[in-house]
Amino acid sequence: MKTLLTNQLRKGKLIFLLCLFIITHIVSCKKENNEKDAVPVNTKDEKLYQTLIEGGVKAENIKELNEYYVVEGDMLFKKNKTDLKKVREYFNIGSSLTEPEILKKMASLKTTPNPISQWNTPTIISSVNVERIKYNIGGLSYEWQTAIFSALEKWVTIPDVKINFYYDYLTPQLAGNNTISFTDDGGILAYDVIAQGVFPSSDNAGYRVIVNTDFYNNYPVTASGKLYNMVHEIGHCLGLRHSNWQSRGETQSGAQLVNGTPQTDGSSVMNGGTALYTWNGFSSYDIIAAQTMYPYGPYDKWITSPEGKYSSTYGTGFSLFLLNYNDPVQITWNQNLVSTSAIDLSLYQDGVFITNIGTGIPNTGSYSYPIGNYLQLSSSGTSFHKVQIRINSSENTSISDYSSMFYITLD
Ligand SMILES: [Zn+2]
Repeated sequence: MKTLLTNQLRKGKLIFLLCLFIITHIVSCKKENNEKDAVPVNTKDEKLYQTLIEGGVKAENIKELNEYYVVEGDMLFKKNKTDLKKVREYFNIGSSLTEPEILKKMASLKTTPNPISQWNTPTIISSVNVERIKYNIGGLSYEWQTAIFSALEKWVTIPDVKINFYYDYLTPQLAGNNTISFTDDGGILAYDVIAQGVFPSSDNAGYRVIVNTDFYNNYPVTASGKLYNMVHEIGHCLGLRHSNWQSRGETQSGAQLVNGTPQTDGSSVMNGGTALYTWNGFSSYDIIAAQTMYPYGPYDKWITSPEGKYSSTYGTGFSLFLLNYNDPVQITWNQNLVSTSAIDLSLYQDGVFITNIGTGIPNTGSYSYPIGNYLQLSSSGTSFHKVQIRINSSENTSISDYSSMFYITLD
């Protein structure tokens, strides 16, 4: 909440702020706004005030709050910065809505201020798959892509979670591929629904997020608003339900309370009815939920190279560079993690076994091998995609670890 107000004030871009939060939240921001932004208190904007009246709002339902008029407790209109044309459109001025109809319209937009903790779906992503979730983006603007890149990074950089992503434009957009496809909604979503994610199935991440690019009659969703919503939808693809599903009257459908999360969490990024929120970080219980659902296992950090997390810089997974396809790749592992005299290494591409790299390799922590000799080249002939290396103890093959999924670029 605070981020929304202070950022907007700082940028001076707030032309029409329709807020879905309750008055107590607004009041809690008041002190900070006065201190940081030195906003003149209770200035007037007669034209805006008259437009609201003309829109059917009764005078007693318009309250002053510093540089805003607050209507019905949870809609804010910034004085002298609000686009009156949009206000007129919103209230259908010129049409014949009665005040009860207007208030009903507003009520339908309100979030329910009684959220309850973090919940996951009955099926979540398997531990092997959660560190190799692929994704692709189709038909979305640069601004939405940027939001998706950052939103993915928010999830992978939660401390001590195994979640990882890999950009893969080749994967068909189907369920069961452990791939999240981000696309335009193609007109499927209702005008007031900003986006929709899909829950996991069969150990795979939810297969798509559709984005309503003309949400709310092309309401100007800020970069921070886009980021908030993409973090939220990815949360669904990872198996998180709305934290406030009960108070929203959603069906339980197997929703399970995540261990260690409490009975209320108004700060959860997974609360529903929040399309107009902006990014203000995960709540502490969102973080606990991710850590509880997708923790590292005891051997998950055994391979130390090639190993790395998704980065929003290029929006890709971890990558390596080779001058020639048959150059050896150095594989390293923590030789002290598993007490074994020898290890086996094997090569995978898109989750499919390709070949044994070696068996009975002395547990020295390092081994080089020209894996490019065995991998399938991309169609461009300049890279190898979706590569993983697996290590296991030669003495107990069930003690094992996969590297991150990575790609190799050739010169
Ligand atoms: Zn949702």
